Amino acid sequence: MSPNAVASDIGTDVSVEPVHLSWANRLISIDTVSRHSNLGLIELIRDDLKRSGIDATLTFGKDRKWANLFATIPAHDGEINGGIVLSGHTDVVPVDGQAWDSDPFKPAVREGRLYGRGACDMKGFIGTALSLIPEMQSARLSKPIHFALSFDEEVGCVGAPIMIADLMKRGISPDGCIVGEPTSMRPIVAHKGINAYKCCVRGRAVHSSLTPNGVNAIEYAARLICFISDIAREHRKNGPFDNLFDVPFTTAQASLIQGGNAINTVPAECQFQFEFRNLPTVNPEDIFARISSYARDVLLPEMHLENPDTAIEIRPLAVAPGLEATEQAAITQLVRALTSNREKRKVAYGTEAGLFQKAGIPSIVCGPGDIEQAHKANEYVEVRQLDECHNFLSKMVLSLTAPAI
Ligand SMILES: [Zn+2]
Repeated sequence: MSPNAVASDIGTDVSVEPVHLSWANRLISIDTVSRHSNLGLIELIRDDLKRSGIDATLTFGKDRKWANLFATIPAHDGEINGGIVLSGHTDVVPVDGQAWDSDPFKPAVREGRLYGRGACDMKGFIGTALSLIPEMQSARLSKPIHFALSFDEEVGCVGAPIMIADLMKRGISPDGCIVGEPTSMRPIVAHKGINAYKCCVRGRAVHSSLTPNGVNAIEYAARLICFISDIAREHRKNGPFDNLFDVPFTTAQASLIQGGNAINTVPAECQFQFEFRNLPTVNPEDIFARISSYARDVLLPEMHLENPDTAIEIRPLAVAPGLEATEQAAITQLVRALTSNREKRKVAYGTEAGLFQKAGIPSIVCGPGDIEQAHKANEYVEVRQLDECHNFLSKMVLSLTAPAI
């Protein structure tokens, strides 16, 4: 029975499901919306690996409510260093307020599509990768294959840095990493960096008839926001530019704001959030340094002149580096060869690939499904995309198989 036949006319009959589809179904059935613990899913995978004789290393987030899982299938000679990482995040975005036609946590196959929260982003990929473990174990692997499953990617790549730091500490340095975010199985060689911050401006409240005695937090916040907007305009006008991106320059904006409590009171506090998305060739630290130095060296001294008991605090919400894979990297060449795709594609959305790359592990993004179908009501992945991913990973295993002596 071909997987496509299952997709087209047999629906969710688990008795005939190909194993990669049943793995995806198991994962989608566990609600791992980022705000909830992902331990149920991580323990399910850990226990399954254990039954196959593979020990997984868990690294934990706050209060041990969330965990990353890293596991290695060694090469035939027992080597666990080098090799390829298959990376995916286990959390999914919320379904609140979305009109779903079926229960988002009850996966269902209809007309060749697997529906469910995370089907596309990115439990379809993780399930497909896990379904190949028996094949990986029976192959005579010349290099190890690693699984790197993270928590809380959707809320700003919270989990992956903890897992990567642990790898570095344990001296594990894989040769390359494939991040299976939805790309319709086309290699993505670059994405922008994400840099999101929260700023809190603390002024001093007084009656609005006495403005010279207060410090207006909204006005100072507004000046900082205008400064950020000027940076955005500068990049739009002067570049640098990379026309392979939809928006070919670095962008910046303030996106949320809250401040003041009454029309007749000088506002004591204003909080806002801002983000900038840098081209991978633009250093995000330089941009942040300009923003924080304007706050510290221009605005704050003025505020202190009015009242010393005032402040501007800026803290990061999510910082994930951009990705720029080199064509010469072995992982880029391997993924290009396995997909027979040499197009140079760059995308606006961020992934964990930039984090692996920054840690010295050459990375590329390639996974089943279309990002268009992610995060929405009735999220789905085409079953044939999962089949394609299965073929791609099978070929990858084959490419890592050492000839028998
Ligand atoms: Zn994702």
